[in-house]
Amino acid sequence: MKRLLSVFMCLILLFSWGSVSGDETLAGTGDSLIGGAEALKVEVRLAEDGSILAVEVVENKDTPVISDAAIDVVPASIVAQQSLLVDAVAGATYTSDAILMAVRDALTKGGVDLTPFEKETAETPMERAEDEALEADVVVIGAGGAGLTAAVQAHMNGASVIVLEKMPKVGGNTILSGGALNAVDDRSETAIANNDSVEWHYQQTLAGGDYQGDPALVHILVSQAWDAVEWVKELGMPFVEGSTFMVTGGLWNRAHKPQDPVGTGFFKTYMAYIDSHEGIEVLLNTQAHTFLQDAFGRVNGVVATGASGNTLTVSAKRGVVMAAGGFSRNVEMRQTFNTQWADLGPQIPSTNHPGATGDGIKMLMTIGADLVQMGNIQLLPIGDPENGSLSGNIEFGVDSRIFVNKEGERFVNEGGRRDEMTNALFEQTDNFMWMIMDSDKYPTGEELNNFNESINSLVAQGRAFKGETLEELAEKIGVPYENLKASLDLYNAHCESLETDAFGRTVYGTPIDTAPFYAAGRVPTVHHTMGGVRITPKAQVLHENGAIIPGLYAAGEITGGIHGANRLGGNALTDLLVFGRIAGENAALDK
Ligand code: ADP
Repeated sequence: MKRLLSVFMCLILLFSWGSVSGDETLAGTGDSLIGGAEALKVEVRLAEDGSILAVEVVENKDTPVISDAAIDVVPASIVAQQSLLVDAVAGATYTSDAILMAVRDALTKGGVDLTPFEKETAETPMERAEDEALEADVVVIGAGGAGLTAAVQAHMNGASVIVLEKMPKVGGNTILSGGALNAVDDRSETAIANNDSVEWHYQQTLAGGDYQGDPALVHILVSQAWDAVEWVKELGMPFVEGSTFMVTGGLWNRAHKPQDPVGTGFFKTYMAYIDSHEGIEVLLNTQAHTFLQDAFGRVNGVVATGASGNTLTVSAKRGVVMAAGGFSRNVEMRQTFNTQWADLGPQIPSTNHPGATGDGIKMLMTIGADLVQMGNIQLLPIGDPENGSLSGNIEFGVDSRIFVNKEGERFVNEGGRRDEMTNALFEQTDNFMWMIMDSDKYPTGEELNNFNESINSLVAQGRAFKGETLEELAEKIGVPYENLKASLDLYNAHCESLETDAFGRTVYGTPIDTAPFYAAGRVPTVHHTMGGVRITPKAQVLHENGAIIPGLYAAGEITGGIHGANRLGGNALTDLLVFGRIAGENAALDK
């Protein structure tokens, strides 16, 4: 069981800006401020084994936008690397330092021994600032989930590996994901109890993508999913055992949940492997931009720009794995390729990390790689109204909540496909909805959602609302009480009868009738670019002319043709694990 350290050890603290310059290191705890200085507040949670589970900046008075990069990167780096020596983010060093010092103070105040967190991070040596020629058997572009899976697998297959990552940290979008991973083990009690099978996962993945996914790739995805979970478990990544859940748009109860919050478990596991083995390294702040090819068109290296603007020429003796993710944060590319939505301009936010700008796609285009279904872009209906992120998403799985519009009315099957739910949300007033829950999942309010936040902290931050009665909740969120009550009464009746309702909902949990009640506002947000480069079942990249581009492999969000028109929730982590392994292994064996 994880515990909220702040409850026991008073870990919410204020950090005064004066301390950045060394005047003052501690501003105190609770609400006090020293000298009225502006404050950045962090909340630190520890796991039972003493590792840092989460760092959340709960208040920040620094200039928005400028500080955003640090707030995106530094807390995640601290968690992924379990270190207080992570690098500051260029351009946001004040905020980076403030976060690090606030975390340090929080731990100290909580009586936590800092020694285990003083280790030099992998980050410090993970840069090359001079022009250099490097060489490895396998070169991987991108240190997100697919890239690091491929890197570790390739290394296990006997290859030396260099991973190039343009951001100052590992993790990509994968580290921001809610952590739902679809995989079915036909022999397991959970699958039998859920009436699930690999075959049913296959059928639902194909149907859920309007049969645009390549059946051969989908077959690999579902049939190798459980093996991949066992592989990453053996590497040391713990999962919540014995239970699965239905994630938003997942269409079935088959998502496994890592024990560590969001996607951090993958990176703790992979970085532990990388740190403890020779012949595998990650270079951060290193942006790949050009493929090297021999006279026969074989890809045999990558040119990248290093941390100081230097040029790194990295030769790949066996293969290159392209795992640079998607382009949800590139509005121009969204607008160019989108075929599914009216308009994906800058007014539509994204759940993605800032590095999801489609560089990899552009590189692939320069060598004639075949792109498929680039118009298929997944939106979610559950973005944070402020910034489109997945944080502040109070749900615990499909059966725990309903959606209502500003009029307090339900408008869609909340257990349905992601595209259908988001399309329905675009029809509502201000494209806005409230997610409504009761306290069944939040008996104390300290329980953590999939994004590692408690409802109490979200309410305190004004990002969720709490009503001791439904009437009070309706008043707080400005929704007509009569309508909200009628929506819940009807929904609750269906929870008892289990009959399909007028919206087609078939998935019910316990009735939403236990006070206190909770609500959080949500909006449409760009989540995943489902199109991308065409690959073979061995993750080899195909040229527009149908031939395999020798030496080049791809995995993860950058590939296309697996999820089709609509990806099932929970299938992205499966995809990066399964095809990351395939790409890594085949690149390593490509001698
Ligand atoms: P996936 O889920 O497919 O692994 P992620 O978004 O998790 O995708 O990871 C992709 C990673 O690739 C991100 O960390 C991103 O910063 C990195 N990346 C994107 N473009 C480049 C590039 N040109 N050079 C190096 N790394 C890149």
